[in-house]
Amino acid sequence: MKTAHQIAIDVQSGAGSAESELERTLGVIAARNEELNVFLHVDEDGARSAAASIDARVAKGENVGPLAGVPIAIKDNMCQRGIPTTCSSRILEGWRPPYSATVIDRLLAAGAVPVGKTNLDEFAMGSSTETSAFGATRNPLDPTRVPGGSSGGSAAAVAADMTSIAVGSDTGGSIRQPAALCGLVGMKPSYGLVSRYGLIAFASSLDQIGPFAKNVMDAAILLEAIAGHDPMDSTSLPEPPPSLVAHVNDGVAGKRIALVRELVDGADPDVVASVERAVEALKDAGATIVELSIPEFRLGLSAYYLIAPAEASSNLARYDGVRYGLRVDADDVAAMNEATRTAGFGAEVKRRIMLGTYALSAGYYDAYYGQALKVRTQMIEAFKRAYLDVDLLIGATTPSVAFEFGSKTSDPMAMYLSDVFTIPTNLAGDAAVSVPFGSGEADLPVGVQLLGPGRSEAQLFAAARVLEIAEGRS
Ligand code: GLN
Repeated sequence: MKTAHQIAIDVQSGAGSAESELERTLGVIAARNEELNVFLHVDEDGARSAAASIDARVAKGENVGPLAGVPIAIKDNMCQRGIPTTCSSRILEGWRPPYSATVIDRLLAAGAVPVGKTNLDEFAMGSSTETSAFGATRNPLDPTRVPGGSSGGSAAAVAADMTSIAVGSDTGGSIRQPAALCGLVGMKPSYGLVSRYGLIAFASSLDQIGPFAKNVMDAAILLEAIAGHDPMDSTSLPEPPPSLVAHVNDGVAGKRIALVRELVDGADPDVVASVERAVEALKDAGATIVELSIPEFRLGLSAYYLIAPAEASSNLARYDGVRYGLRVDADDVAAMNEATRTAGFGAEVKRRIMLGTYALSAGYYDAYYGQALKVRTQMIEAFKRAYLDVDLLIGATTPSVAFEFGSKTSDPMAMYLSDVFTIPTNLAGDAAVSVPFGSGEADLPVGVQLLGPGRSEAQLFAAARVLEIAEGRS
C-alpha cells in the first residue's frame, strides 16, 4: 500500500483523494478487524466528514498539511472528544471524553484523518495486548502470535495495511516492542517532546506518545506533526517541533556508535545475528563502531517495576466509580468504590496497583521506591557518560521475535522481561527507535534498537534510514 508521504502528496495534488483513501482503509478494517481485533471503535462518520472537508479544502487550493488525507489509527488511551475511550478497561467502558488530546488536535491540523481507537493492554500495562479487557489483538504477520504491547492494536493496524501510520505510547517499551514484533519503525521520543495532554496517565514520569510507520520517512513526518511545546502539559519541552524530515537522509558518516553488551545479552541467537549485521551496515555507511558495557542497564527492570507501579497506583486512584465509566452500586461510598474497582480492573492492573501501593507505603518507601529513584539517577548518569564518547547506542529491541499467545501470561516476570532492552531509555527520558532488520524464528521480523540522548530524534531517524537502505527498502 501507499506510504503516508505518498498519500499526502496525492491528496494535495489532486491525484488522489482523502475520501478514497479512507474508503480503502475502512474496507480493510471491515475485512480483517474481526479476525485481528485491532480497532475497539471505528469512527466512520467522523472520519468521513474529516476526509470530505480535506478534499473540499484541497479543491479550494488550500495547503492542507503534511498528512493531507492520511488515515491514522489512535491508541485507545488518547482522548478524542465524543469518541469512546476505554484504555481497554471495563472501568472506562462507556466513557466519552469531553475534550481531545493535543496529539489529536495536531493530527487534524496536519490534515490527518483519525479513523478509530486501537486495542492495547489494559491501561498500557503489558507487552502482548493480552491483558485487554476486550480480547487480544493478533499479529497480522502470524495470527497465532502476539503483536507485542502495549500498543499492539496500533502496530497491528499498520502491519495489516489498515492505515499507513498510527500513534502509540511508550512507558517502558510499548511502541518499540510492538514495532519490532510487527516489522515496523517505532520511536519513543524524548520525554517532553510530544504533549501528554489528553493521554490517559499510566506512569507520568515515563509516558511518551510516538509514531508507528512502515518506514522511517513516514515516522519522521508523523513525529514532526505531533511534536512541539504545549502549554497544556507542564512537562512539555519549551521548544518548537524539531526538524526531522529534512535530516532523514543525513546518514551516519563520522558518527560513533556503541554496541552495548547489555542490549544483546540474553537475546535469541537470530536476534543477536541481526544486530551484528546492522552494526556492519552502519560501519559500511561510515560510522565508527565501539563496544561498550553499561552494567546499570541490568538494574532497569527492577527500578521500572517499582517506579511505574508506584505512579500507576496514584494515577489510577481516580477511577472510583464517581467520575468516569463504570459504577457498581453498594451500600455506602467506600463499598461502591471497592465494588467498582474490583469489577472494573483486570488482574494485571490490580497487580500493579498493589505493587505500587506497597512500594510507597510507610516503612517501605525508602527501601523500595526511594531505592528505585536512586537507580534511576544512576541510569541517567550512565547514559550521560556513554554519550561523552559516542553519538548513539545500538542493541536489540526485544529478546525474541513475536511469541505465541499464552506463552508468557502465567508468568508475569517472563512477560516483564520482554522490555528488558527498552526500559533504560524511558528511565533516562531519552529517545530510541526500533527499525526492522532481518528476520528470526519462523521468518518473523527482528527489531534493531538505536538509542540516543534527549532530542537526538533526527540522528536516530538518519541511522535507522541507513539500516532501511541496507535492507533494500526504499
Ligand atoms: N510492558 C511494560 C509494562 O507493562 C511497558 C508498557 C508500556 O510501555 N506502556 O509496564
